[in-house]
Amino acid sequence: AATPAGRVRNFSGGSPMAENGKKTRQFRAEVRKVLHILTNSLYTNREIFLRELISNASDALDKLRFRVNRGETPRQPDLPLEIRITLDKDAKTLTIADTGLGMTAEELAENLGTIAKSGSEAFLADLAAENAKHAEGEAATADAANIIGRFGVGFYSVFMVADKVEVASRPAFAAGDAPVHVWTSDGLGSYTVAESAAAEPARGTIITVHLKEDCLEYAEKFRVESAIRKHSAFVPFPIFVDGERVNTQPALWREPKASVKKEDYAAFYKALTYDTKDPLDVEHIAVDAPVQFTALLFIPDAAMDFFGADRDYWGLDLYARRVLIQHRNKELIPEYLAFLKGVVDTEDLPLNISRETLQENVILRKINQVIVKQTLGHLEGMARDDVEKYNRFWRLHGKVFKLGYHDFVNRERVAALLRFNSSALADAEALTSLDDYMARAPEGQKTIWYVTAPNREAARLNPHMEMFRKKGIEALFLFEPVDEFVMDGLGSYKDWEFKAVETAADDALAAFEDKEKPEAVAPLSEDDSASFDGLMARMKEILGDTVTEVRVSHRLADSPAVLVAPDGGMTASMEKLLKVMNKDDSLPVKILEVNRDHPLLRSMLRIFKADREDRVLADMTRNLFDGCLLLDGYLKDPQALAARESRLLTEAAAWYVEVKKI
Ligand code: ADP
Ligand code: MG
Repeated sequence: AATPAGRVRNFSGGSPMAENGKKTRQFRAEVRKVLHILTNSLYTNREIFLRELISNASDALDKLRFRVNRGETPRQPDLPLEIRITLDKDAKTLTIADTGLGMTAEELAENLGTIAKSGSEAFLADLAAENAKHAEGEAATADAANIIGRFGVGFYSVFMVADKVEVASRPAFAAGDAPVHVWTSDGLGSYTVAESAAAEPARGTIITVHLKEDCLEYAEKFRVESAIRKHSAFVPFPIFVDGERVNTQPALWREPKASVKKEDYAAFYKALTYDTKDPLDVEHIAVDAPVQFTALLFIPDAAMDFFGADRDYWGLDLYARRVLIQHRNKELIPEYLAFLKGVVDTEDLPLNISRETLQENVILRKINQVIVKQTLGHLEGMARDDVEKYNRFWRLHGKVFKLGYHDFVNRERVAALLRFNSSALADAEALTSLDDYMARAPEGQKTIWYVTAPNREAARLNPHMEMFRKKGIEALFLFEPVDEFVMDGLGSYKDWEFKAVETAADDALAAFEDKEKPEAVAPLSEDDSASFDGLMARMKEILGDTVTEVRVSHRLADSPAVLVAPDGGMTASMEKLLKVMNKDDSLPVKILEVNRDHPLLRSMLRIFKADREDRVLADMTRNLFDGCLLLDGYLKDPQALAARESRLLTEAAAWYVEVKKI
């Protein structure tokens, strides 16, 4: 049969003018610019043209399947639903064929003949912005992925790599023996649609891409395969490259939970993350309201270095109908769930969505909220049903998860999932929840006490803990600097206030009975009691303005002295942190509390009574104070401390030899 005269059309609107019986129209200036940019300016990530063509083919197959499921019969009903890519290095072509819906001549003109529905002006403005962002780099290399499709120009991305494209299509549901029509364009000025006598495609569409000289890599099998694996690995129809199946990984998240085996999850996880270990846990979510999405989330069995090297390497892979939209999208989860790995797939997002639009997207925000709720529920279940696993989770990811104290809406649930080491636990590995802490507390306790320390031993040696030990009141151990911010941020849990042991009032535990009987020490005589007041006045004189006051302590059992903030104030560690942040190297001025029953103070009292001006008394007072400062993390004048120390040691050694008669 003779081919009728091809029709020539423009890509947009414009004024028609007759020419040799064909309708020819001029491009609008800005549309020409858009095409020019597509063909000449986008060099980064050009491989995404494959993603666009494959997703179009997949859409066409999807639409066909939909109508078949509704009971319609397509042309050639036995043809498999598939996408076949063939490469020809000699001819310099890449061909992509699908057995989908196909297009009539009118549809070819309509669907492939209009461009930039959302405005080419905006496209150009955006491109300028994108290029400006990269301006500091080597070249102006606007990322095609970031630009293509934003304005409904998905198909046209093919002109990044092609100097000519033919789209041959036979509609699947047209009545009669619908012929093939071929749409042809060089992407520059115009296109034609002409009928063809070709036998192929029997149904669907064959797109022949004539590659530009600098794009011949897309006639290489490995190159095309790697691009497909990267962007289109989960397309729901088989994709063949030169006869070989490429996308073998099913989109597991779309499968019903009951049909997925543990091994399948593990294999998928490893393919996704390159982790060699099985994941610690899997969360498979399918939600229809308030937003439709499926998600397959994993908790890795290895810690991430969230505060170091991995700072930016988190987020979930976002798919729209099995096509990858963005790697590591950070809108889908809050930072405190950054340990999660996996994918989210939604029908509610258009494929052609830009990264900028993703950032304040309502759909993503809704998905985020659902994921948070589900993940908290999941962790609560784990904490209840498998304590060992939950504790493992905590050790791996607790550092990140505890940042959830920021999440105002969910803070009570986050708080319930926090874990701590504490003074009531047997060893440094053991963990307690806040609820368990509260359950162990004696009648009348309404405060959750904590102590900040670099490790258990240091916590144990903290003089502020002595009163708590005596009364058998448990204190949580905070080993990480962020913990204090967590406590501060939370403020309370189930109406129990969080408080640092250091900020406890002298009589905070007066209502509780002693658990440990302190060794009986003879009380001071009335006379000595008065002298002790004199000693403290003398110590204040010696220390001058470095302390606000020297007073008797009721919180100490084994230590001779401790520094206390005048008004309860903040903890030494928090104060230290703030001073570092403010570049303030002054020493905090606090109250020195001394233990009247301590043998050191009893001896100092005797020295004082004999000679209030005694030099050794002065050295001892200063060293006692320096020791307390050291415990709070300050060492301002190590030379003076060391000199006094050495003097006292020399004298002590001489007296020791004398007394022991050695
Ligand atoms: P989008 O996919 O966002 O609609 P594209 O520019 O990628 O935009 O494609 C434009 C239109 O061309 C599609 O909506 C579809 O109607 C049609 N089309 C493209 N490729 C095919 C194909 N392989 N089979 C059938 N129709 C197609
Ligand atoms: Mg498309």
